[in-house]
Amino acid sequence: MRNINYACSKCGPLAGLAEPVYVCPECCGNLDVVLDVERVRSAHSPASVGAGADRSLWRYAALLAVNVPPVSTAALRTVGGTPLFPVSRLAQHCGLQQVWIKDDSRLPTASFKDRASAVVVARALDLGVTRLITASTGNAGVALAGMAAAAGLEAVILVPESAPPAKIAQLLVFGARLVLVKGNYAAAFNLSLQAARELGLYCRSTGYNPFTLEGKKTAAFEIAEQLCAESGEDGRDTWVAPDCVFVSVGDGNIIGGVHKGFKELHALGWTRRVPRMMGVQAAGSAAIYNAFAAQTSEIGSVHAQTVADSIATDWPADGLHGLQAATQSGGAYLTVTDAEILAAIPELARLTGVFAEPSCAAAYAGLLKAARSGLVAPHERVVLLITGSGLKDVAAAMRTVGTPPVIAPTVAELRQALL
Ligand SMILES: *Cc1c(COP(=O)(O)O)cnc(C)c1O
Ligand SMILES: [Zn+2]
Repeated sequence: MRNINYACSKCGPLAGLAEPVYVCPECCGNLDVVLDVERVRSAHSPASVGAGADRSLWRYAALLAVNVPPVSTAALRTVGGTPLFPVSRLAQHCGLQQVWIKDDSRLPTASFKDRASAVVVARALDLGVTRLITASTGNAGVALAGMAAAAGLEAVILVPESAPPAKIAQLLVFGARLVLVKGNYAAAFNLSLQAARELGLYCRSTGYNPFTLEGKKTAAFEIAEQLCAESGEDGRDTWVAPDCVFVSVGDGNIIGGVHKGFKELHALGWTRRVPRMMGVQAAGSAAIYNAFAAQTSEIGSVHAQTVADSIATDWPADGLHGLQAATQSGGAYLTVTDAEILAAIPELARLTGVFAEPSCAAAYAGLLKAARSGLVAPHERVVLLITGSGLKDVAAAMRTVGTPPVIAPTVAELRQALL
């Protein structure tokens, strides 16, 4: 088994920890898996990685602390490689010149969480464990259920009773041991840590297992490599980081992971900058935003209340990473209301052809707000991260669109209906 180096987000490098490692034994802070920059730089380059034929996130295996899972793990081997494409009408609508969408709703279980679950399952295979558990608002559990099914492992999933039906359906179809918890995500989260200890399960929970960040950082690698190709540069020595990246934020793990990826590329000398990381929270679930606005690293809890279930969290489990992503990169946090989130769903869909779930449409609502308030300058190169498919929560989308007309099958009635 590989020897992994960890660093605490509060107290720095740690040594001699017994696996499986979750949080800092000193302060319970969230951990980073430390990349051996010198080793990677001496053996690899953008050109060597770029020459790889595998389009999935496993093309970045040299920068990951897990072994590439075997071909028999089916869909697990296909995670990543989502498209990055320019969205000129959306850019124009925001008064910006260059906006790209990174569309992770196209991952196997239709959310960004597949990146984290794929790498956590690969880690489980390295550790030789066969039973995993996670708490989730829905998507993380679905992603673990899907990746565990692909690899033939068992997954116990704890979600709040109120999770949207499509996510419950996915969990059941993948054969997870699904348990609905009376209470909110925080209750499910606490139970998952206790159950992992007492029942001997490997815990994937976001903001607890350091390998979720490892999976999520691969989105940064893809963005930099793809933006390089978009820019017409050869990509032999360097890739291209955008000026800023918009991410919707609940626990802070996605924005933290993407930031980690960009920091690693910059440390390797493979990009010239780290983009400004822009976190968007729902106004009713804004714990990290509150800390950012108050310029403190103490993240308090809130009573989360928002239509955007995937970013509803009373206490962000990876809050410090989420906060540091913005403060260390010169980025910012902003909030959007539920009304703005719901209005953003059809607007984003009509401007780009991308149907996002509420938690993801929030990032677009935030981009629009930031562009209008001057937080983003017109010339900046912006990437909008699409984290979850609109099909995950059809009921929320239906609240923002009218009902279609019903007609007899005649051209006359159709002509009337199209007026
Ligand atoms: C989980 C999730 C987020 C937020 O990620 P955090 O790591 O909790 O900040 C955003 N959008 C979607 C669709 C998600 O599933
Ligand atoms: Zn610590």
